Amino acid sequence: MRFRIAVLAGDGVGPEVTAEAVKVMEAVGRRFGHAFDVSTAKVGGAAIDEFGTPLPDETMALCQETDAVLFGAVGGPKWDDPKAKARPEDGILAIRKGLGVFANLRPVKVYAALINSSPIKPKVLEGVDMIVVRELTGGLYFSRPKRRWTTARGRRGVDTLRYTEQEIERILRVGFDLARGRRKHLTSVDKANVMESSRLWREVAVEVSADYPDVELEHMLADNAAMQLIRNPAHFDVVVADNTFGDILSDEASVLSGSMGMLPSASVAGLKTASKRGRRSVSLYEPIHGTAPDIAGKGIANPIGAILSVAMLLRHSLQLVEEATAVEESVEGVLAEGYRTADIASDGGDLVGTSRMGDVIAGRV
Ligand code: NAD
Repeated sequence: MRFRIAVLAGDGVGPEVTAEAVKVMEAVGRRFGHAFDVSTAKVGGAAIDEFGTPLPDETMALCQETDAVLFGAVGGPKWDDPKAKARPEDGILAIRKGLGVFANLRPVKVYAALINSSPIKPKVLEGVDMIVVRELTGGLYFSRPKRRWTTARGRRGVDTLRYTEQEIERILRVGFDLARGRRKHLTSVDKANVMESSRLWREVAVEVSADYPDVELEHMLADNAAMQLIRNPAHFDVVVADNTFGDILSDEASVLSGSMGMLPSASVAGLKTASKRGRRSVSLYEPIHGTAPDIAGKGIANPIGAILSVAMLLRHSLQLVEEATAVEESVEGVLAEGYRTADIASDGGDLVGTSRMGDVIAGRV
């Protein structure tokens, strides 16, 4: 089959890790007989330098006409001036908005070969394999009113947490759909003990669960979830949370794996390729890390987060499950063989750079 993929490498280590991800995608093409037509475009600081804006219209147009977008990372000290009109990070926010993606998926897996790279005790990490689903477009970060003002008795500030039942339902369905294809266990995170929006969240979760009798639904208060993620992370299969709790818990969960460089993510508008109105939706795939200015240009960044983002792209946007599994197994195999980039080399092993890591993973595919 033939697919169109937009690659927006961005800044810093973005281009270094996406080059390896594309290498692996091409290896998948050769092994399984697919053609990936890759188009590249500028985003972030690189786009500001060339076009004066972090997301040029042509970049957005390209994203909209492809089957999926592979993204690197944007930002860096060069564009950090707080007074600057254009900021690289606005590029990623604008793409998410333009594509209408509302769910952020972050799988967290602890590889047996890397169990000693994590700050958590190896015994606690055995069998950790979860996916955190974060609502991306609503809740506390976006609801209005949101403002600061001064009164006679001092300064005030307000943020608002508002969700509609439709917003809650669609993110929960992403969680249930994912759980159905995994270990069939969904943890829905809220603060229903103190928050009205959370009580609505829980109510909707129970209603939606009627459509998924094969999935076990568990409610967990956010504070308890933060504790259990460290205490007993293997308990979790799929975790679904609102924008704020999801933001915090997904970062917490990422620590389990030992390095930022290892983890992929996807931002999707549901798990079906076509939306209810029959319109095609385009999803965005990117490693969770940023541009790592401290190591950019040295050829030592870990490309695995970007490579595993390709696996997610194959699985969720192209429905190429066998191909996605082949990429994931290659990563696992290469780690088991002892190949290590610097960030995961605390236990020794065969130290390799970005490009060599890409080569050995592509070779194994
Ligand atoms: P970062 O993720 O870039 O780096 C944090 C630490 O992790 C650094 O020590 C870095 O060297 C290390 N690291 C990150 N990716 C790695 C990899 N692939 N291999 C090995 N080590 C890796 O976060 P930061 O330093 O807070 O941010 C740097 C820049 O990236 C900022 O401009 C920030 O705004 C931007 N950023 C962009 C995104 C995005 O594009 N989605 C996300 C986060 C941060």
